[in-house]
Amino acid sequence: MERRKFLRRSMAGGMAAGFAGALKPANAAEAGNGRHSDLPSKFTPSAYSLPSSKYSPFTTPDYYTYADDLFIERNQSGKPHKGKVLAAVEAHSDDIPLFAGGTVAKLIDEGYTGYLIRVSNDEAAGRTLGFGVVQNEKDIQGAAKALGCKKAFSFYYRNHRMDDNAAIEIRARLIFLFRFLQVNTVFAMDPYDHYDENPDHLVVGKAVEGACWMSGSGKDYPEHYKAGLKPASIREKYYHPRSPQGHNLVNRIVDINSYIDHKVQTNVANTGKGPAGIAGSRLRNELAKQGKKLPLLGDDDETANFQYVKRFLMDDFHLMGQQFGLEYAEAFRYIGPPPNYRENIRRFVDEHAVPL
Ligand SMILES: [Zn+2]
Repeated sequence: MERRKFLRRSMAGGMAAGFAGALKPANAAEAGNGRHSDLPSKFTPSAYSLPSSKYSPFTTPDYYTYADDLFIERNQSGKPHKGKVLAAVEAHSDDIPLFAGGTVAKLIDEGYTGYLIRVSNDEAAGRTLGFGVVQNEKDIQGAAKALGCKKAFSFYYRNHRMDDNAAIEIRARLIFLFRFLQVNTVFAMDPYDHYDENPDHLVVGKAVEGACWMSGSGKDYPEHYKAGLKPASIREKYYHPRSPQGHNLVNRIVDINSYIDHKVQTNVANTGKGPAGIAGSRLRNELAKQGKKLPLLGDDDETANFQYVKRFLMDDFHLMGQQFGLEYAEAFRYIGPPPNYRENIRRFVDEHAVPL
């Protein structure tokens, strides 16, 4: 059974009209696209299905559960993040470009220094296993450049076999890089991505989650400090969802309209993996052999690749953005800096302490 049919569209008018409205069960008569929910009225939906263009299975997930403190992150002027460092960690070369490329490009443009860290060797994406490794090794450099990253790293664990490796080793390698690069903010696949069929995603998500916490510890891997490294204080985490199997908790929507072309270019750079790369020029050449053309794809391969990705693969991000009154959007489970407990307790003590 197609999952989208299980819990039908319930957000069509709700999110655009205001967040509170989205919490009402779907009204069959109001569904803008003609679909309706079979959910009996005594139930309140707790997950929201997303409108889909049906152009790509690799863009937005099937369902989101929205937090009541959902925040829309918009463009900031100047370079408010100057001096900060982000690491965008991905199992595969197409993960960050597809799901978080617009937001990574946005934060780098707003002052962050960015690094792209790929954990697999992407051997499963290529004409042969060997070709896949080489092509994706090349592609990740192009993707990093399109995002504005300073450097790309690869760990080269075998594709789709990452659960065969010791989780503690992957985590330790991330801790080393987080300390070496002095990372403040990470992007990664949500480690609690429900229904994700790809084992690599969950392995990487969990490794990142642990590494974020342990990178700041003085007791974990103390030899790093003997070698001159310093603890990394990772205070912000952007966990992105997975499609098509995803069902994610979301508390942050990022307006990526100003960065949609960066995101497109980042995906075009992925020629070895994912639905983008040279798919546009391939379609253009296929049509030419039949004596046809699609005006959208223009008159050269470069235009065809760009327009194909923007029109077909970004459309689901457009549909999602529309729910929030935005042109294009990406969604995250964002975890920000923890409150300063010690300072809060000290303030309480200062206010309430009385003489003995
Ligand atoms: Zn992946």
